[in-house]
Amino acid sequence: MTPAEERANTLRRIRDSLRELLADGIDYLPRAPRVSPARAAPAKTAPAKAAPSFQPRVAKLVEPTQKSAEAEGNALGLAAVRADLGDCRRCRLCEKRQQIVFGEGAADARVVFVGEGPGEEEDKSGRPFVGRAGELLTKMIEAVGWRREDVYICNIVKCRPPGNRDPQPDEVASCQPFLERQIRAIAPVAIVTLGKPAISTLLGRTVAITKLRGQWQEFQGIAVMPTYHPAYLLRNYTRETRQAVWDDLRAVRERVEAARAK
Ligand code: URA
Repeated sequence: MTPAEERANTLRRIRDSLRELLADGIDYLPRAPRVSPARAAPAKTAPAKAAPSFQPRVAKLVEPTQKSAEAEGNALGLAAVRADLGDCRRCRLCEKRQQIVFGEGAADARVVFVGEGPGEEEDKSGRPFVGRAGELLTKMIEAVGWRREDVYICNIVKCRPPGNRDPQPDEVASCQPFLERQIRAIAPVAIVTLGKPAISTLLGRTVAITKLRGQWQEFQGIAVMPTYHPAYLLRNYTRETRQAVWDDLRAVRERVEAARAK
């Protein structure tokens, strides 16, 4: 192969990889760190394997000084909600649960993600979104340029519905005051609801997620973006569904950035 053909092949491979990343919703690649020629390792000793070219962009969601005071106040608020929830026995979900899955993340998060209810992995670990759907949620968060620990993640019900059935209206009603208090304690710029039950709960009416997704809603003065649940995405992993969620999260990012610029 001539050097020109080799170069053309390399360029084709790079183009194909970039198209795959775009199809996965990744439209941003950070610059590789600059290495001054003097400090660069000689070619012979360079590691055979190239450094990974993609690192999710990490945007600062809050300024550090603001963060400490605000985070402290919000964390106290969240701790009060958790204390009031106690060893909850307000509905039948307590009978089969292993652990209450309260929620986790930054107390001063600008974005709160609300899912439906813990699954098996979450019930075992006591943490929200740690199973397969959770892995995808983490990737979605990172693809927008955030870190999982900088947002807050919780569910409309805090205990696992047996067999992962849908939570019943009375179970949701028992848990809802705690969800609402969590949201008020954090006071985020935006809420992202994942799937139909989460947005229906916050709006107080049953909605069709396919119709409402991508359209800003409001909950107690806070902007709400309804999007698909990652478990739905896993079952329907098409370009269209991924693009839809990507568009929704990008709109949230723009809103958060606009609020920070004010
Ligand atoms: N699905 C949810 O809605 N919440 C979780 O925590 C895990 C899976």
